[in-house]
Order: sequence, then C-alpha cells, then structure tokens
Amino acid sequence: MRDRCVVVVAVAVLLWSGCSRQGPVDADLAREIAGIQAIDNHAHPVLAAEGDREFDALPVDNMEPQSDPVAMRPGAFKTPFAADSKATAKQQHGDRYPAWVLDQMGVDVMLANRVGMGASIQPPRFRWVPYADALLFPLDNAVLAAKNSDRKAFFALEDKLRARYLAESGVAVMPATLAEYIASVVTPTLERHKEGGAVAEKFEAAYLRTLAFDAVDAVQADRVYRAKTPPAADYKLLQDYLFRTIASECGRLGMAVHLHTMAGAGSYFDVAGANPLNLEPLLDDPTLRKTNFVMVHGGWPFTREINALLQKPNAYLDFSAQSLLLSPATLAGIMREWLEHQPEKVMFGTDAYPYSNELGWEESGWVAAAHGREALGRALTGMLRDGEITQQRAIELARMVLRENARKLYKL
Ligand SMILES: [Zn+2]
Repeated sequence: MRDRCVVVVAVAVLLWSGCSRQGPVDADLAREIAGIQAIDNHAHPVLAAEGDREFDALPVDNMEPQSDPVAMRPGAFKTPFAADSKATAKQQHGDRYPAWVLDQMGVDVMLANRVGMGASIQPPRFRWVPYADALLFPLDNAVLAAKNSDRKAFFALEDKLRARYLAESGVAVMPATLAEYIASVVTPTLERHKEGGAVAEKFEAAYLRTLAFDAVDAVQADRVYRAKTPPAADYKLLQDYLFRTIASECGRLGMAVHLHTMAGAGSYFDVAGANPLNLEPLLDDPTLRKTNFVMVHGGWPFTREINALLQKPNAYLDFSAQSLLLSPATLAGIMREWLEHQPEKVMFGTDAYPYSNELGWEESGWVAAAHGREALGRALTGMLRDGEITQQRAIELARMVLRENARKLYKL
C-alpha cells in the first residue's frame, strides 16, 4: 500500500512540476523528493472514530468571520479525496484509517498536536505533541477573556484543560503558592506527557497573548500568583515565569518546545505579538540552551526575521501552514533563503487540520504535503541551476528537510 502511494504522490509532483529539465523543478530531483517518506513536524490528525474534538486545544472552526485567504476559499483545492471515497476508506480501514491518510500524503511519521491520543492515532506513525498553554494561566482569566469573542472562547477552553490537568495530577484545589503549583501540577503534567510518549509540548500562546516572555524572578511571580486577581500587566509576569519554567522542564525531560509563530486564524489575531523576534530573549537565555525551540509555521510574514534566529543553536522551524496558504512558487522563495542560511534547522510540515467537511485534515494535509514538496523542489532547483549546489547536495538537502532534521531533533 505504501509503495502505491509513493507512486501516486510521485506522479502528482511530476505533473505539477513538469517533466522536462526546463520546468520549475528538476525532473530527477522531483522524483527523489516524491520518494522520500516525510516526517510531518506539525499536524492535527483526527481519530477514525466519530465525534473527536481533541485535535486541538483551541479549535478554530467557530470563530468570528475574517477575510478568508484565497487559498482557504471554497473550491480552492483539488485533492484525491471525494466525500464518498473518504467514507469508503474509513469503513475499509477502520482504526488504520489515519495511517492510510498518511500513506496518501507520502508521510511516514506525523507529529500529532492533540489533547490526547487515541486507538487509531498511535506510534510509530503518530507521535504526540500535547498542549501546555493551560498551565500558563492558573488565575482568574475573566479580564483576558473579555477582550473579544475569540479570546472568550479560547480562555474557556484553557480553563477546562487546566482543570483536567489538575485532576490528572490528583490536585483538588489550586495550591496556595507558586512553588507548590509548579511542583504538584506543572511538573507532574509535563512528566505524564513525556511518559505518554510526547516528543514536544505545544504552545498556542500567540492566540492568547504576546510571545514576549520576559525573565521574571520567582519572588515577584509568587507575589502575583498569591494576589489571585492581579492587574493584567502583573499577570503577564506570572505567565512569563511559568513559560520559562516549563521550557526549562521540557529541556530536562528531552521534549522540544513548539510555538505557533505565524499570523493566525480569526479576525482578532495579534500578528505583531506573534513576531518570532519576540522569542529572541528566550533563545539567548543561557539557562534555556538545553531546550530546543521549534517555531511552528515558520513565522510568516516575518520569514526573514525568523531566518536570522536560526543562528541560535536551539532554534528550529517548520513550514507547516505556509505549505497550505502560500503558492509553491512563493514558498519556494522563502524556503531558498532559509536553505542558503541554515538547512539543518528547516523541517517539513503540513498543519493538516479539520477545517470543514470539504477541507478535512485529509485534504489540507494532502495539499500541504504536495505543495511543500513542490516548493522544496523549486527552491533546490533554483540553487542547482545557479550553481550554488550540486545535484547530490540537492538530494541530501531534500532528505534533511523532509525527514532527517526532524529524525535527529526528536531522536526518532
Ligand atoms: Zn496547527
């Protein structure tokens, strides 16, 4: 089954890229790229069983209307999944259905952003990336939630998830001090995730606040924690302290920290707050150098700023979501700048996501995988034709981006 899928993907890539040496992707390179079984650094696979809502801590399918990007408008996609073929495949494959979807995408391993895993989404094809944002907001979130309708929905979901983390940690009431909260809730939750197979912790913080996490001392953070309903500016200091604590714990436990860095869904998303340059003080903190930070979605529109950050030894990125929202030609230009600078830090990703019936995680994943491969092929072909790299190096770089960089980072 996997072999047939490789052929399907190969044919698709060849059709897109043209079969001659004059096309935007070198034909031999296109064939190589189509044959590499990828590791998808970021996606939201959905369980085979009906009614799954754990594919995201903050589902974005019920937000106030925004101006939809062209790529997300109805009819923008052509994929091999007709509605009835998905239903047939679900029946035919049962719990193996999600893995079958990966086969269609040419993906070997998918990092699954999920609140919890499930029978049909299991290693080795899926690796868990749970959510840690709920731990950052342990106080009354009413003021933050009042900002707009999206935040209201998001903080209600975070409050629910934090209650679940408390219950799973066996804690009935919020501990009196910050140190007790960290020792009895934060660390045990991260350790449980690690034991459950997590390779990273995911932060959707950019949907909730700025990504500027300042260095704050423990005494000050504890004072804010005890205040219970501090002013928003003080509450931020507590969140900053908790973020850095969690990042440090992730380093100790051998989990990466994943951060959403891109303009996000919805009409209230704070684009400036998601600028990856906000993360520079974290990346420059010598005490956090044991933690690897992965800037998920490659920071669009700040794709040059993020490139400069890749010089930090513990900074990585993926191009998930850009592979869905940008054309392969546009993404190729962005990717080429990254590949000319820090090719060891660039990873393939789709952000497969169940947006709607028409654009499910199957369709969005398939399109992003095909476009991501084509963009990579275009970027490498440009470098090849300009005499920057050899054919052999182009193939090597393709393997690194599609697979090897992630395999090394997560020790898969
Ligand atoms: Zn995502």
